[in-house]
Amino acid sequence: MARGMHGTICSRCYMISLFPVLYDIPVPTLNLNESDVLVWHDINGNESSFSSSSVWDTLRKRGELIPWVNMVWFPHAIPRHAFHIWLIFKRKLKTHDKMKVWDAGSATNLNLLCCSLCKKGPDSHDHLFFECSYSLQVWYSIRHLANMQHISERWDDITAWLIPISKSKSGYSVTGRLLVAALAYYIWQERNNRMFTNLERTPGQLKEAVESTVRLKLASMKFKQSQKTLRLLELWKLPKEQDKGG
Ligand SMILES: [Zn+2]
Repeated sequence: MARGMHGTICSRCYMISLFPVLYDIPVPTLNLNESDVLVWHDINGNESSFSSSSVWDTLRKRGELIPWVNMVWFPHAIPRHAFHIWLIFKRKLKTHDKMKVWDAGSATNLNLLCCSLCKKGPDSHDHLFFECSYSLQVWYSIRHLANMQHISERWDDITAWLIPISKSKSGYSVTGRLLVAALAYYIWQERNNRMFTNLERTPGQLKEAVESTVRLKLASMKFKQSQKTLRLLELWKLPKEQDKGG
């Protein structure tokens, strides 16, 4: 019981006068034969078992869904390639054009930096992926393997082609995303090898490295059978008799 200015009122009435929302909450029916259990209401209001991952998923800050998310993160993505291509989309690689901003008159003249692949001026994201003469040679030699033979070497053109199909599980969609991510990864690796070591690969050798990495990944995957899939497997010199497809 609670005592107010006008005498005694019951606890229920008192609480409802303080919190009118209580009117709308259904009174739970208690089943004395069952034990209490803890349940977690996820962000969609569904009951699920409690786990730290579901708590994190409910509490974490959510930004706008970016259009290229499925081009970077997908079930068959190679993790180190996915992380690298994410850095490219975020323009976070330390390319020469970015380093110029930090130039504070040190002994190194950043204006003299040259792309280690083509030796023509400082590199940048757009230059390396894949407008550099070295990169585009490799791109031209492998783009047909993902049915992208008509796509130029410009990053914007490549992503404009891949992003709209990046939700698809088809063989060509997955292959295109794997191929571009692998090429970007190996181009960056080659750029750094040439800057910091004496190791050098020709465009042909880099193409081989990209191709064998993607082929190995495709060989571990299973697709649905279709004519398109058979053509894709033929292109990649993978056995047709397996249950692959897309
Ligand atoms: Zn270059």
